[in-house]
Amino acid sequence: MCEICDARAGSRRAFLTLAAAGLCSAAAGSRAAGLPPAPSVSPDDALARLQAGNAAFVQAPQLCAARLGKQRAQLATHQAPWASIVSCADSRVPPELLFGGLGLGQLFVARNAGHLPDSATLGTLEYGCSMLGVSLIVVLGHERCGAVAAACAAVRDNARFPGFIAPLVEAIVPAARAVLDQPGDFLDNAVRENARRTAQAIATRSESIGQGVAQGKVRVVAARYDLDSGKVELLTP
Ligand SMILES: [Zn+2]
Repeated sequence: MCEICDARAGSRRAFLTLAAAGLCSAAAGSRAAGLPPAPSVSPDDALARLQAGNAAFVQAPQLCAARLGKQRAQLATHQAPWASIVSCADSRVPPELLFGGLGLGQLFVARNAGHLPDSATLGTLEYGCSMLGVSLIVVLGHERCGAVAAACAAVRDNARFPGFIAPLVEAIVPAARAVLDQPGDFLDNAVRENARRTAQAIATRSESIGQGVAQGKVRVVAARYDLDSGKVELLTP
């Protein structure tokens, strides 16, 4: 077991057990009453947990899977994730690892190239919030994103793309176009704008998530992952 797991295993096991027990009973009760389950973790606490995990990943990114077997057995019949991550499909941006080597049952993750807020993604996030009690949604853009780079090429060079890549890129083009004249690096500005726009779209296009945000029960934030340093930077309050 690595140093991070050694230090965190006790508190993590206790948290998982409590969260699982709490959410199972809460979910059963609320379903009977027709209400969503109460979140096991507040939005602010969930964000602080992710930030602490990322700091640990940046400092000592050892990978340890020693306890996955035990977690699998504990979570085989239920799940109690405490945060949703909407991230790019990029192979270098796996949310569970870059937030500190999180194990099974902790993050509810939706991924596609460019983290587009399509109907499948919105449905996934609504399920996480309304059925599983997730209270925090993090849209995670990343440095040198290929999908955003394609949109930048479409805006700047009129590049065209084949098949289903075309509508995917087209959905990111408005973000790229919005920052075309801004100072600084075009691609990185577009990465940040695309993450902010996806977060905004989630909170406005989903009625149930928008209501949760308005009531302070759900928080949606945009962030950027730095491929070089491993750091996750918040882009929105
Ligand atoms: Zn990407």
